[in-house]
Amino acid sequence: MVTWQRAMILWFQHKVDILESHEVLIRSVRTSYSAPAVLRLRYYIKPKTYRRVRLCRENIFIRDQFQCQYCAKTFAYKDLTLDHVMPVSRGGPKSWKNLVAACHKCNHKKGNQTPSEANMPLLKKPEPMKWTPKFDMMARIKNTRDDSWTPYLQMQFT
Ligand SMILES: [Zn+2]
Repeated sequence: MVTWQRAMILWFQHKVDILESHEVLIRSVRTSYSAPAVLRLRYYIKPKTYRRVRLCRENIFIRDQFQCQYCAKTFAYKDLTLDHVMPVSRGGPKSWKNLVAACHKCNHKKGNQTPSEANMPLLKKPEPMKWTPKFDMMARIKNTRDDSWTPYLQMQFT
């Protein structure tokens, strides 16, 4: 994701193609341009640094694809809770490996038990999340939702 100013510079430098534009016009002294919405890099640029993903509620939900890790149903952000696989009261840490997305019902049902005690197996083993450009998109999408991106990201914004 880049600002529209940066997008225009990249375009003037022939580094990107503009695939989609907004209806909004950007005016310069001589002419005006449609504001770019989707760019394609002409050359692949390798990310410079490995970025760690911050451990927080939202990122756990993104890792788990908004799916309750017990009943496998998908929920909206507001209908999900963070579940400590090993309960906090029993020394369960706040970590990528001990936090999963869970719906209210499952979280309540599991209560103060481990998944095996509650007979509620986890959908998948929780692992720390690795950063990817797609992840960055999803993490920032809440404030900058843009429908013209959808076909390129192959994901749904709900
Ligand atoms: Zn559930």
